[in-house]
Order: sequence, then structure tokens, then C-alpha cells
Amino acid sequence: QGAASRPRVILLCSPCLGHLIPFLELARRLVADHRLAATVLFTAATPSPSEEYLAVAAAVPEGVDLVALHDEALPPSASVRDRIAQAAARSHPRVVQAARSLAPLAALVADANVTAALAVAAELGVPLYVFFTSPWTVLSLLLHVPELDTAVAGEYRDAAEPIRLPGCVPIAAADLPSPMLAGRSSAAYARFLHGATAFRKVDGFLVNTFHHDLEPAVLGGVDGLRLPVHAVGPLMLTRPATVARDQKCLRWLDQQPRGSVVYVSFGSGGTLTRQQTAELALGLEMSGHRFIWVAKRPNEDPLGCGALFGSQVGADATLDFLPKGFLERTIGMGLVVESWAPQTAVLSHQSIGCFITHCGWNSVLESILNGVPLIAWPLYADQRINAAMLEQQVGVATRVKIEEGGLVCKEEVARVIKHVMETVEGETLRKMTCELKDKALHALSAEGPSTQVIAQIANLWKSGS
Ligand code: UDP
Repeated sequence: QGAASRPRVILLCSPCLGHLIPFLELARRLVADHRLAATVLFTAATPSPSEEYLAVAAAVPEGVDLVALHDEALPPSASVRDRIAQAAARSHPRVVQAARSLAPLAALVADANVTAALAVAAELGVPLYVFFTSPWTVLSLLLHVPELDTAVAGEYRDAAEPIRLPGCVPIAAADLPSPMLAGRSSAAYARFLHGATAFRKVDGFLVNTFHHDLEPAVLGGVDGLRLPVHAVGPLMLTRPATVARDQKCLRWLDQQPRGSVVYVSFGSGGTLTRQQTAELALGLEMSGHRFIWVAKRPNEDPLGCGALFGSQVGADATLDFLPKGFLERTIGMGLVVESWAPQTAVLSHQSIGCFITHCGWNSVLESILNGVPLIAWPLYADQRINAAMLEQQVGVATRVKIEEGGLVCKEEVARVIKHVMETVEGETLRKMTCELKDKALHALSAEGPSTQVIAQIANLWKSGS
């Protein structure tokens, strides 16, 4: 079958690099292994691409088309969440137009912004699958929200008991996603509930997880909902370090002893306040361990927004937001990288000993796939749930203690690093992570469950079901 006439899957991705990266890997597999064609439509929320977007776009796999739909009319003042939702909703006509020109179509695959995608799929007459790029635990929570809305009296944030979902870590009130904490009568919660209800109308879910020792509960789906749920992960797009700045990181790592370096990164969009940035710097220094830190310019908005909406890469050449003398004092011990590092190459380097992460799900999976234990420092979205699960249920992470006002102090940063790098408990975390890595690799092997299930779904789509 010629490439032009292959049935095509449209993958509709909202403006989050943390979604785009696994979407590209799913698309790569559909094209390379299953003779489908794939176009990823990225509903960008900026008039022009950020440097981080360009770094990801440079690694688009062969045979996959990536089309960015830039939206020039988005109000710059809107919140991150609003801009993501608006970009998805407003892209509808352009998505339909682009998709029609790409027929024959086999399926539409969307991320968590389902409401807009349902309308597109209906218009195109194709099945709609959600590729969920966070863990099953979070999807299970979303699918249960309509029932919780009826069953839970009062505010979620006041609940004394955690939310218990089958096979999942109990979710403490403080770890719930912010729209659930915002208050039952808030607009944010109303939108969240609406979105969660829309989830029940899709044809199936692909979840970027695996069941063997990570999320066994994914196999059970949700009682009473006849929705197919497939674990297809851990899908991770390996990005080669091609540009000079990336190679500098790797050359530096080459010179460090095996397992000696703490890697610190808060994902594509996560930023810290100025005070928190300073505490982190001083804590790294205090720990006495080597580190590589992807530092972003401080931001007082806890949701961050750097990479999503055009960061200020280049403006930070002086890293002037770091504590006075920090760079001089840590020469030889640490490397501070501006805004973006070649993360998959860094995590696979033998010098890395542990990863201080915001627990974005890609970062978690990338760490597991490289057997690197985690220090969980969640910031927003699903990250607090991920941290709880990784620490309490999976046993591959230790969580930082966050003080009342939201600060992680320098003593805590140093303590938690020493804990993972120097103690028997840290050694146990490392051992658990290496064991989990083997399970992850098995899931993706030729006979593994994730590979098998992707093949079944691809066949279903090719048969027009
Ligand atoms: N990433 C990267 N370099 C960086 C920061 C992030 O390559 O300096 C990649 C990282 O490898 C991961 C993605 O960006 O694949 C971030 O996704 P994640 O789910 O961890 O967090 P998010 O950015 O969605 O908060």
C-alpha cells in the first residue's frame, strides 16, 4: 500500500510539550510498525514557537507529520489553563479542515481536552480515542468525578478521608487537582466536571502506563463504565542531543563519576518563585553532591508558563536570579543549564544518581526507563497524585517536605538528596527503580503487553471499526 493511501490517524494535541512528546512516539509506532499514516496537529497557544517547542519539533520521527496550528488571537493575559482550553476549542474549524484534506481517516486521537475533540470526531465521522499522558490513577479519578460530585458532601478540600479508587493509592485532599480544590461552586470546578463527563463519551482510552508493578489497576478499567482502557506505555520519544548546548551537558557528565550526579528539572513549563529558586540553589550546594540543574527564570505564578508560551531563553545568559556567588562556589561540582536540557540523553547517562523532578508523567517514565530513583517535588496539575503514588505504592520515590507557605527550605533539599544518595533506603529506591525498569522494557518488547495492544488497536482502526 502506498504511503499516500494508507489510512491516517489524526493525533490532536493541546499546547503542552508534555503531551506532544509521547504523542510523537505513539505516532511513530503507528507509522513504523503498523503501516498507518499519522499527522500530529499541535494546537499551539502562541503566535510563534518557543525554543523548547523547536527542540522537540527537531526530533519529529520519520514518517510522522507535525503541524502546529498557531493562534495569534489568544489574549496574552489569560491564565495558562484558560489559554490551553481556548486554543483547543478555537482550533476546531481548522482541525476539521486540515483533517478532511488528509483522508482516508482511520481515527482521531486526542489528549485530555476532550470536549472539542468530540465535536471534531463527530464531524469527521471517525472514532475518538483519548491518549492519556498521565497515569491511570489520574484517569480513574477523572472518570469517577461525576459520581464523586454526587456522593461527596461539602468541599473536597475539607474531606478528612482520602478518596479511594480501586487499586489506586488513596488520594489525600491536599493532593487533588486544583479545580477540585477551588470550590464546588467555582467556574474552574464546573469546567472540570464538564470535561470529566465528556470523557465518558469517547470510544476508548490509551494510557501511557504499564500494569506490571507500576499500575496493575489499569487492567480493571472502571466498574460500570463500558469503556475500553488500554495500557500502551511507557511511550517515550528518545531525542538525540544534537545542538552544541546539549552536547556540553553530556560532555560534562562524561567527566563525573558513575551515579554521582543529581539531575534537577521541573519539566517543560514548571517554574519556581525567586525565593524557592534561591533555597534550591543553596540546598544543592549544602548537600555536597554533584548536580546538573535546568534552571528557569523565576516566576511568581505557581503554574509556571515558560515553555508553554514562549520562554525567555537567551535573556537569562547571566543567570542573575541565582544567589550571589553560587555559580563560582559550585564550579566543578555543578552545571546550571538555561531552560532546556536533552533530558532523555541526560537520564540515560551513567553519571546520573537521582532525579529531583516535579513528577510530570513523562519525566517519571523517562526516569524509570533508565533506572534512576526519584525525588518527588510536585508543583501543579496531576503531579501531587503522581508523587503520592510513586512514594507510597510503587516505592521508587521519596517526597520532599513542603512547608506551610509552600516553600521547600535549603536544609530539606540537602537532606533529601543525602537520603537518596547516601543511605540504605536510597539504595533500596535505586534497586526498586532498576527492577521496574526491567518491567517497563518488557512491556515494550516485541511480545510485551503494550506492543501487543497497540497492534490490536492499529488493526481495529485499519479495519474501519
Ligand atoms: N524536557 C526536556 N528538557 C528539559 C525539560 C523537559 O527534554 O529541560 C522534556 C522531558 O524529557 C519530558 C517533557 O519535556 O519528556 C516534560 O514532560 P513532563 O510530563 O515531565 O512535564 P511537563 O512539562 O508536562 O510539566
